[in-house]
Amino acid sequence: MDVPLILTHFLDRAVSLYGEKKAVFCEDREFTYRELNSRVNRLSNGLRKLGVKKGDRIAYLAPNTVEMLEGFYGVFQLGAVMVPLNIRLKPDDYLFILNHSESKVLFVDQELYHLIAPVKDKLETVERIIVHYHDGSSPEAGYDEWLKGNSEAPFDREFLEEQDVCSLLYTSGTTGNPKGVMLTHRNNYLHALSSMHHLRVSDEDVLIHVLPMFHVNGWGSPFYYTANGAAQVCLRKAAPESIFAAIAKHGATVMHMAPTVLNSILQHYEQHVPEVKDNIRVVIAGSAPPPAFVTRVEKELGWEFIQVYGMTESSPLSTVSTVRSHLKRLPLNEQYRMKAKAGVPMIGSEVKVVNELGREVAGNGMEIGEVVVRSNGVMKGYWKNDEATMEAIRDGWLHTGDMANVDSYGNIEIVDRKKDVIISGGENISSIEVEGVLYDHPAVLEAAVIAVPHEKWGETPHAYVVLRPGTTITEKELIDFSREKLAHFKAITGVTFVDELPKTASGKIQKVHLRNEYWEAQGKTGKFVN
Ligand code: ATP
Ligand code: MG
Repeated sequence: MDVPLILTHFLDRAVSLYGEKKAVFCEDREFTYRELNSRVNRLSNGLRKLGVKKGDRIAYLAPNTVEMLEGFYGVFQLGAVMVPLNIRLKPDDYLFILNHSESKVLFVDQELYHLIAPVKDKLETVERIIVHYHDGSSPEAGYDEWLKGNSEAPFDREFLEEQDVCSLLYTSGTTGNPKGVMLTHRNNYLHALSSMHHLRVSDEDVLIHVLPMFHVNGWGSPFYYTANGAAQVCLRKAAPESIFAAIAKHGATVMHMAPTVLNSILQHYEQHVPEVKDNIRVVIAGSAPPPAFVTRVEKELGWEFIQVYGMTESSPLSTVSTVRSHLKRLPLNEQYRMKAKAGVPMIGSEVKVVNELGREVAGNGMEIGEVVVRSNGVMKGYWKNDEATMEAIRDGWLHTGDMANVDSYGNIEIVDRKKDVIISGGENISSIEVEGVLYDHPAVLEAAVIAVPHEKWGETPHAYVVLRPGTTITEKELIDFSREKLAHFKAITGVTFVDELPKTASGKIQKVHLRNEYWEAQGKTGKFVN
């Protein structure tokens, strides 16, 4: 008989094989798989007492904590749907998402309760708010006491089909308003099997959750590390110092992160080399293009670097930068260059790059087209938005809105988001390519390049730059530097120096905000202004 692919199997397997092994480290608390499972049962039993039924939405507003991690399995046992909320939004955004998703119960971390308090009375469907930890500072129920009051007996599970929706994940909102992505148990299960293979996850792994679990890149990983009985370290704040401390304390072996966080780790690692060098076996970067520091990660730190590419709409990962036999034949510098690409399709994913006529681009690394994906991970659709679903999934292929080329090995290289491409005098310029050059300048810590209006050329590239502490450089020097390294039409025509760049909670630079600010200051409403 076929076994439906339901995510709770992963925890069942870990409990039966690794019951007494440490499952989670969360600040000064630690839990074995058996202890984690008891908490999960108490959570599911408690939710049932509250009247939660199959298909109901349960929202979580929490950083990476054991409460968040157990939430996945506790919600899934009921066949309910997990709605993780980005912790960096504003009260009105929560009001929108909680009402839009029609969430019934909201779990909120005590430190984040102030974000919900202002809109609490306007929530249309939330029947119960429960606060993780509780010192009496909020009027809602405290989680610890509530959890203890529920039975830890094995939960009498709902019957689920693998095509049942398990999560409603709102996209990062890098390019506009977030959309609710419906993913099924089957999507996440098959995505997890593929990821654990490509990332070579084992029961000896100790993962640090650097990426937030409310974001799709962070939220898929609990499944594949749990299934293998690995240990997971939850960090409330993933700052370089706490990451280094966790590597040393727990002997962490693997981390997934956005390139911007990896960049900040590289700023600080010199003081920590002895503690961190030997433990980490691999660091996995995704969610945005990596500037060219892959080489430093591998050469100086000795950590293997793997790049992955994906989006919320595909569970998320579709490609991975590791085909070792391809790499082995190449000189080291070429290997690093190859790893900076998004890579090849993962098992279970078909990925093509197609031109405007819908034909696949030539595999010579030159022709550019849009990435389209057909995979086990592709979403059921956008919640309550059939129009956007039909726009995204056409003829069975998910249209990613990302532009890429393909080399002779089949590696996909993301060139830009369609919305970020700069069109100057009829030529397409990749903002990522220009940023890559700016990152080569020793004074540049972070750079984001956007299109700005230009009378003659329509648009030209303009850079927003954060300088390394203690360095100086003028606008003209940076423009000249870019003209030396790039074809002149691609060179930047202006620079705005800033103290920091606007980022999403997962660390992606939100160019849309920079564009809006710049274009509005010019009194223009270009095609980019959302
Ligand atoms: P929204 O759709 O709300 O604007 P978003 O697209 O940033 O936000 P996510 O689903 O979190 O939301 O991110 C997916 C996008 O991130 C991809 O479409 C791609 O543009 C970018 N991305 C992910 N991985 C990589 C990578 N390895 N290289 C380049 N870009 C990447
Ligand atoms: Mg997107």
